[in-house]
Amino acid sequence: MSPTRHAAARALLSDPLTNKGTAFTAEERDEFGLHGLLPPHVGTLDSQIERRRKALEEKESDFQRYAFLRELQDSNEVLFHALVQSDLPRMLPLVYTPTVGEGCERFSEIWRRPRGLFLSYPNKERISDILADPAYDRVKVIVVSDGERILGLGDQGAGGMGIPIGKLALYTACAGIHPSEVLPILLDLGTDNHARREDPLYVGWRAPRVRGQEYDDFVEAFVSAVDDRFPGVLLQWEDFAGKNAYDLLVRYRGRLLSFNDDIQGTAATAVGTLLAAIGRTGVPLTEQRVVLFGAGAAGSGVAEMLVQAMMADGLDEKAARAKIWAVDRDGLILSDIPRLPQQQLKLARDPAEIEGWNVSGQNMISLQEVVANVHPTVLIGTSGQKTAFDERTIRTMAEKVERPVVFPLSNPISRAEAHPADVLEWTGGRAIVGTGSPFGTPGVTQVNNVYIFPGVGLGALASGATAISDGMFMAAARRLGELSDDSHDGLLPAVTELRQVALEIAVAVAVQAQAEGLATAEPAALTRESIAASMWQARYA
Ligand code: NAD
Repeated sequence: MSPTRHAAARALLSDPLTNKGTAFTAEERDEFGLHGLLPPHVGTLDSQIERRRKALEEKESDFQRYAFLRELQDSNEVLFHALVQSDLPRMLPLVYTPTVGEGCERFSEIWRRPRGLFLSYPNKERISDILADPAYDRVKVIVVSDGERILGLGDQGAGGMGIPIGKLALYTACAGIHPSEVLPILLDLGTDNHARREDPLYVGWRAPRVRGQEYDDFVEAFVSAVDDRFPGVLLQWEDFAGKNAYDLLVRYRGRLLSFNDDIQGTAATAVGTLLAAIGRTGVPLTEQRVVLFGAGAAGSGVAEMLVQAMMADGLDEKAARAKIWAVDRDGLILSDIPRLPQQQLKLARDPAEIEGWNVSGQNMISLQEVVANVHPTVLIGTSGQKTAFDERTIRTMAEKVERPVVFPLSNPISRAEAHPADVLEWTGGRAIVGTGSPFGTPGVTQVNNVYIFPGVGLGALASGATAISDGMFMAAARRLGELSDDSHDGLLPAVTELRQVALEIAVAVAVQAQAEGLATAEPAALTRESIAASMWQARYA
């Protein structure tokens, strides 16, 4: 064999996109000169899956399983995705939340081979050059983070790369985007996490975070380079810190096909699940009374989307806002509270409205008092305040409402406003409960963004959308709500059905894009059959 043929054989085995391991057939081994490099046994994908599953289960911790799966992904993508898809309920928590949190914190310990791109501040002038690699010619979806607000774990610097890698694994698993079409990117602008920066093993750029104009200029250089290199690419902003998350979304959603999953994906997931819950109560959305506890990024996004949904169902904006009472650190948000953050101004109630209320006369109106006076039908927690939904509050709510809808959405489990089993007990099993984290309580739904973002991305790509509108997220939320039926244990379809969910959401999003004049694809490309046919299955070519 010639030296080039030897080198090509090795390259075939070391590229995770072409490697098949023992599943290379006898003919392929002849053709590519693989004899000797592989053991003689010719296996099948199914036998490989079983061998890896066994090795996976022999690991002692979920973090070890996470690292094992990351290494598998870097050696054989088909096998990795086939294993993930063979058992989504088992694999998703290992590939993504909650295990990915530790994966980010300990990213430097397990970094082995290149995956995705680290665009670090010292390489600002080289961004276009780095993106020019022909290996990225097929890229259709980018997930990008700057690692500053990783889940509830704060600044993880370059370790935040675990998030784009994980989210894109879900794009492939749920939306069938081919592994060669996804590109995880970490904008490494330093870290203010001293433990990371001083860790001798840390793989990122060791500097305090770049901020202000320099930060903005770097992101602008990145966006311009992406726009030039990948016209029409879908870019998902992920785990940026609060203000940057908003500013970047506003600045770039008209320039790139992009959205922020923490803001828009969360709102659509929560609203979709709420619509499913409300469907079970038999009371129309426009007659619900919603109390929202914690009006930050997630909470205010949910509130604004609920307002839009109520308006679409016939209420005017004033009437829709009158159905929502938002409570934050200073109690019920009233318009006379000084220095309200921008997103809370729109949710503030007129103090005159509460004149007749029975309250303690303290200088703020507590959640308990709001619940006692409003008799809400829906209670949502996005405050990060453990046990804020106490027994008294929940029992008070349940006194006047047949099927109280209670969503303690704060993550992780240690931050949840209530344990779902307690809510069920205090309401005699009448409550309909959704949580942010998985509690394993029967009948309780986990409100996870994976129900929304893969379908939104797939629908936007299938329709050749020029932008992702609020209307497209609303269409996704409504479709998610419709997918609920009594055959499920909770409110949403089972995790095993996530591919079907992504397809249904994608169709709804594509149709909405077309209705808003944002679609550029031919109408034939927007059908369920056509979108389904575009979804990649993890099988060897
Ligand atoms: P955030 O910091 O923007 O918002 C938190 C809000 O809670 C702030 O407005 C804060 O003032 C308020 N708050 C803090 N202490 C309070 C108190 N004692 N009483 C009342 N309000 C108080 O954070 P965020 O990004 O909106 O996330 C909030 C929570 O929602 C997190 O725990 C997060 O994990 C969870 N979340 C869940 C999902 C999901 O279930 N899919 C998605 C996103 C966020």
